[in-house]
Amino acid sequence: MTGSVFNIQKFSIHDGPGIRTTVFLKGCPLRCKWCHNPEGLSAATEVEYEPTKCIGCGACAAICPRGCHSISETEGHGYVREDCTRCGECIGHCVAGSLKLVGTEYTVEEVLKKVMADKIFYETSGGGMTLSGGEPFFQHDFAAALLKAAKEAGLNTAVETSGFCKTEILLDAAPLVDLFLFDYKATGEELHMELTGVPQEPILKNLQTLSDAGAKIMLRCPIVPTANDTEEHFAAIAALAEKLEGIQRVELEPYHALGTGKAPKIGKTQEFSTTAPTKERMEEIRQFVEARTSKPVIVS
Ligand code: SF4
Ligand code: SF4
Ligand code: SF4
Repeated sequence: MTGSVFNIQKFSIHDGPGIRTTVFLKGCPLRCKWCHNPEGLSAATEVEYEPTKCIGCGACAAICPRGCHSISETEGHGYVREDCTRCGECIGHCVAGSLKLVGTEYTVEEVLKKVMADKIFYETSGGGMTLSGGEPFFQHDFAAALLKAAKEAGLNTAVETSGFCKTEILLDAAPLVDLFLFDYKATGEELHMELTGVPQEPILKNLQTLSDAGAKIMLRCPIVPTANDTEEHFAAIAALAEKLEGIQRVELEPYHALGTGKAPKIGKTQEFSTTAPTKERMEEIRQFVEARTSKPVIVS
């Protein structure tokens, strides 16, 4: 079995306990306006082009069978994405690292081998492997196989999920997951649909079901000024943490504009932008939530 992976990030310290390797799987059914990983949205392999790294050598233009690349004295390097079949031929010829293929097919064994290379760090820090994305359960068979292999290798496992998938998928995976990093993005059906493109009701149902099944959950809440930074939302975060036994703690994640810069490199645009909340504002929100729940509340 293979799955499409767009990054394997070593020494992650924000994706669960200890030092971890985070495996980013391609594909996501949501369309969060502030998406910080736009390269994870499509399940298909994509070509990333970073113009600031291009030295105009023309090697890509010489090799591309579709004529997608061009070099002109006045315009420099041009890339017509529409004609690209994502064959990957040009990537290895770009010595400047301006071109990159986003999405590589890996077997479970290949991913696990990379993850296990850092086993010593997991043992000393209480870390392990985290699946992220995209939405990792978009490739649910591959995600489940990877989690099973990791558990058999004795690793601690975590999954960062939007919770938007069939309930059976979550319940089947639950025995293989030590910690769910479960997103809570907005409060209210209409707003949730507007900000993420999907309904909230099935996500809340899945969260409740996972909690009832005894899963350990960290509620992850992106704080996005002008989108979800309201007292109503913060109070709902606290109420949810209080209501569900499975939620062990709440993590508030300040918005950052990473997605705005990444999107154009894969031929997309991210129109939404706002200013990152200050440390002081995040602390205010943390205290507001903390005052309304007995669960620990942290800022990431
Ligand atoms: S990936 Fe293939 S088709 Fe696309 S630009 Fe590169 S060589 Fe051309
Ligand atoms: S091979 Fe890379 S550096 Fe050379 S022109 Fe193409 S994109 Fe630019
Ligand atoms: S769930 Fe994550 S990857 Fe999917 S659109 Fe939202 S922020 Fe992006």
